[in-house]
Amino acid sequence: MSPTPGNALLRIDNLSKTFSVGGGLFRKPLKLKALQDISFTIERGETLGIVGESGCGKSTLGRCILQLLRPDEGRVLWLGDNLLDLDPEEMRKKRRDLQIIFQDPQASLNPRMTVGEIVADPLKALMPELSANQRRQRVMEMMEAVGLQPEMINRYPHEFSGGQAQRIGIARALITEPKLIVCDEPVSALDVSIQAQILNLLSELKDQFGLTLVFISHNLSVVRHVSDRILVLYLGRMVELASGDDLYQDAKHPYTRALLTAVPIADPKRARLRNIDALTGEIPSPINPPSGCAFRTRCRYAISLCAEKRPPLEPAGDGRLVACHRWREIDDTPAMLEAV
Ligand code: SF4
Repeated sequence: MSPTPGNALLRIDNLSKTFSVGGGLFRKPLKLKALQDISFTIERGETLGIVGESGCGKSTLGRCILQLLRPDEGRVLWLGDNLLDLDPEEMRKKRRDLQIIFQDPQASLNPRMTVGEIVADPLKALMPELSANQRRQRVMEMMEAVGLQPEMINRYPHEFSGGQAQRIGIARALITEPKLIVCDEPVSALDVSIQAQILNLLSELKDQFGLTLVFISHNLSVVRHVSDRILVLYLGRMVELASGDDLYQDAKHPYTRALLTAVPIADPKRARLRNIDALTGEIPSPINPPSGCAFRTRCRYAISLCAEKRPPLEPAGDGRLVACHRWREIDDTPAMLEAV
């Protein structure tokens, strides 16, 4: 299913989330700004990839979208309704449409429940009107849809491999026939050979069930295969948002370019040029981020302005957004790369 332009399913407006960390009897807790001023829309049928290093806020964003975490500021508009305004009963009804697939398939499955009970669990909570027989029928159908034998419903999670366990997690997310699924690093705990099978399965299920996906990963090569558009986060802020093709062919933000150096490309000359942008240094603490542009301590293109002023997120053509003072100057020519 291709995205339907102008048919926004979800809209995030100026969303921010801060955590309090540490603190004690004589010490105030520190403020960790996990997300700041995040705004974007997701069209019906779209897959939005969200990438960034560990600690950039991508999983927090996924949980704020689903209201598993409550944002401090901003709005989460689901088909026009702000989810932050709903009471618990109204939110429970919306949960049927909004599901999640977790990173570690084995850890996300209750070892004391059978697979049939695990997959049926959301039905019990969110569709209590179904009879036990109807639930069982749905579970059997969903097992088949994710490539597992329906007869396996009486087995326990430890009897399954990592890839099979993730199929069970996918069946559990799909069982209520949701409209949107947040996939939070769904393949990063799996062997490389199994990753491709699960990514293909997600693509097939997306078409079969008319899903919209938010696909979170630290790995741009994984996101590349599944995403229509990609949002890049750094220390809780949006630094670039673009279509998958635009991002891979012509990334504008130095952080996106750095992430791309880890993605294999066939052309050795271009790969050599691109490696100039490789990431250096550690990611700064989100409790005490650098002034101005948070990426400046690792950016080879940084100038004095970058320490003084945070770059605004601005349009860069073709629906792309970039937050960098120098995005217009940065390109792939050797002259530019030698000049910086
Ligand atoms: Fe680098 Fe400056 Fe752009 Fe930040 S604003 S990414 S430091 S060039």
